[in-house]
Amino acid sequence: MEIFIYLIIFIMGTFFGSFFTLAVYRIPLKQDILYTHSYCPNCKHKLTTLDLFPIFSYLVLGGKCRYCGKKIRIRYLLLEVFSGIVFVLYAMSFKFNILFFESQKIIYFAFGILYFASLFLIAGIDKENIKIEKGLLIYGFILSIIYIIYVCTNYKINVYSYAIYLILMFAFIIINEILEHKEKKSNYAILLIALSSYMLIFSNVIGYIVTIIATIIAIFIYIIINKLLKQKNKKIPIAFYMCVINIIYNIFLNYIQFYIFKI
Ligand SMILES: [Zn+2]
Repeated sequence: MEIFIYLIIFIMGTFFGSFFTLAVYRIPLKQDILYTHSYCPNCKHKLTTLDLFPIFSYLVLGGKCRYCGKKIRIRYLLLEVFSGIVFVLYAMSFKFNILFFESQKIIYFAFGILYFASLFLIAGIDKENIKIEKGLLIYGFILSIIYIIYVCTNYKINVYSYAIYLILMFAFIIINEILEHKEKKSNYAILLIALSSYMLIFSNVIGYIVTIIATIIAIFIYIIINKLLKQKNKKIPIAFYMCVINIIYNIFLNYIQFYIFKI
């Protein structure tokens, strides 16, 4: 029975993954992500539901576009599988069971998924373009407001620290707007601070510090490997590392809380 539940969550995850890959491709191109029909980036042929079913379509079509035969990058398949696995790991991390309608856990799951979704997208776009997409931070800001209202009305939690992070996040999004107006491009460092405030809201101070330390280590390793392979110095997608590490941290923390301390 449990396997069946996690299978449903896995499939949900693969659909999300499929949506993420589309969004990572389209958001930087300023294309709409909800209404425009999916198409093959090579031959521009509209894709049907049969072409778009996660994992299944890739395998049936042998990793090629049905219309022009162009190879589809295996990364899409891997991202769908990966996203499914993250969903399952996350659901298992606090023993979420969609068949028991425990409203608290459903809300917790929903907030987690909406938060991870934004980090996934920020990570994907940063990895491809070395750019923090401010639209996603604005989405994160709105999500934060809803989350803070929910947490503070349902639990006895101090609202002040949340308010400070929220104001910081807002302030740095605005500062970026002003700078962007002058310099004609987003300011990476400023948006990194806005992203930090966002992480502080959803994963508290300790979570943020762990994320930063692990990010510095990851970047250090990345630079060493680059040096050893004698590759040219490339720009480092800092937000990518921060987002991936923060997702791992949050899921890992749940396992400790639910399985070791049994909260
Ligand atoms: Zn095609």
